Amino acid sequence: LERTFIAVKPDGVQRGLISEIISRFERKGYKLVGIKVVVPSKEFAGKHYHALKDKPFFNGLSEFLSSGPVVAMVWEGEGVITYGRKLIGATDPQKSEPGTIRGDLAVVVGRNIIHGSDGPETAKDEINLWFKPEELV
Ligand code: ATP
Ligand code: MG
Repeated sequence: LERTFIAVKPDGVQRGLISEIISRFERKGYKLVGIKVVVPSKEFAGKHYHALKDKPFFNGLSEFLSSGPVVAMVWEGEGVITYGRKLIGATDPQKSEPGTIRGDLAVVVGRNIIHGSDGPETAKDEINLWFKPEELV
């Protein structure tokens, strides 16, 4: 069954949005198969966002992801990669539809509270980066 990597970023954790985010995936019908709280190093955050390494915001982005606890999760279910991105909403919360996580709960692109894998390859890579096989059920 399809799996995706979802993370509540440090701003989402600090704002107390962990349970809100988990319940949106859970109520939809997806299954949580891995979860842990980690403070990633800046180097690790850079690995996670390696595809964006040439962007002007890469350094700030890596610094931000490593600035506090992150809730790293793997969710499983039919279409979870694509539909998970729909639940999350557009990257820029100003463009996210109401009803989406970012649309309802975030305001600016640099503090958009949640990450979700953008395709099957990145989902596999990100799950392998953040989790050991024995940490998943
Ligand atoms: P994520 O990968 O975090 O799920 P995304 O796939 O919607 O987000 P990406 O293009 O992968 O968007 O960008 C990764 C993250 O980089 C965004 O979530 C956002 O926090 C940050 N970001 C993207 N564009 C900008 C920007 N123009 N200015 C500042 N930060 C940005
Ligand atoms: Mg992305």
